[in-house]
Amino acid sequence: MNLTETQLSILKLINLHREISRKELSFRSGLSQAAVTNITKELIEQKYIVEGRERISSGPGRKEVFLHSNPDRFRYLGIDIGGYRVRFAISDNNLNLLYQLDAPMADYLHEPNKLEALVSRINDFLQQNGVSPHSLDAIGVGVTGIVNTEQTRILDIPNVAFWDDLPIVSTLQQAYGCPVFLEEGGRTMALAERLVGQAKDVDNFMVVHFGKGIVAGMMINGHLIRGASNVGGLLGHITVDEKGPRCMCGNYGCLEMYGPFQIIEEKYLELDSTYTSLVEAYEQNNKIALDVCIEAGNSIGIALSNVVNLFNPQCIYLGGHLFDSLPLVLDELKRTVRRRANRFANVILEIEMNTFGDLEGIYGALTLAKSKLIS
Ligand SMILES: [Zn+2]
Repeated sequence: MNLTETQLSILKLINLHREISRKELSFRSGLSQAAVTNITKELIEQKYIVEGRERISSGPGRKEVFLHSNPDRFRYLGIDIGGYRVRFAISDNNLNLLYQLDAPMADYLHEPNKLEALVSRINDFLQQNGVSPHSLDAIGVGVTGIVNTEQTRILDIPNVAFWDDLPIVSTLQQAYGCPVFLEEGGRTMALAERLVGQAKDVDNFMVVHFGKGIVAGMMINGHLIRGASNVGGLLGHITVDEKGPRCMCGNYGCLEMYGPFQIIEEKYLELDSTYTSLVEAYEQNNKIALDVCIEAGNSIGIALSNVVNLFNPQCIYLGGHLFDSLPLVLDELKRTVRRRANRFANVILEIEMNTFGDLEGIYGALTLAKSKLIS
């Protein structure tokens, strides 16, 4: 992109908002209205942004035109690699999903070369949807695992074997000839909440997604938490009971052994054979089912209370179908946090559902592509 720093700062502001007027751009950037008018004219000519709806401003009868990013300017591929499934999605520049595909991680089990297999599946996905591989402007990859500090390689995916030390960025760059950005999955979710979700004005927050594993990302003072070697934020592997069962990571009693839906269901089925599904038992107010939900909510609440006491976030955004089908887990989790976290931290803390539900990870990967390309 051949943009000056000032043009770029205005473009970023426009991208941060669904729509924004020139007047507000001037207010938020500190530039004069005349300067903003010039810059936005250039950005429109270069097709980065477009004019949208109009409204009569509060001033002396002047019309105000809203600007937003040009949906057709860039096209992104988002790749969300979890321990149990791999998702692809293509979006326009406004992150509207155009095509998506969801496949189990097990499909890759017998592939000797994981990245070759990934590229081949992406090619199939693009071809099926009539998208040319050379029409992509940027690719964002979120991975539920450990990424190296340079953010070029997947070092490890804890819940799946043989995805170790893979140079995914260079492989995809070579295959598609566009910029490729890699980030840990929870952090991409935090980016999505911050840039296009509910956390636009929230500087301190955490995103936690409960799938078959647990993914978390955290932003403190507006910055993603990474730690010294890019490993920070492994909430799923915080110990909630040192005498607990052994986790895939090798440790004992990790939150991942208590929080995910299938673990809670397995616990119920071990204790009771009245129903074959936890949700059914739960809906019938089966006491054993309710008890395992309370126990799970309590364990998640203990882990989150520790995080609240350490980082004092303003909001925790939760996701996962677990909370839709077993709302008692959510109630108990909230009760535990209220009971155990510091009361001054609790005063400000809100616990909400995330913006994109089950698609949080794929929006994360796409947001990563867009935000990195534009910065
Ligand atoms: Zn673990």
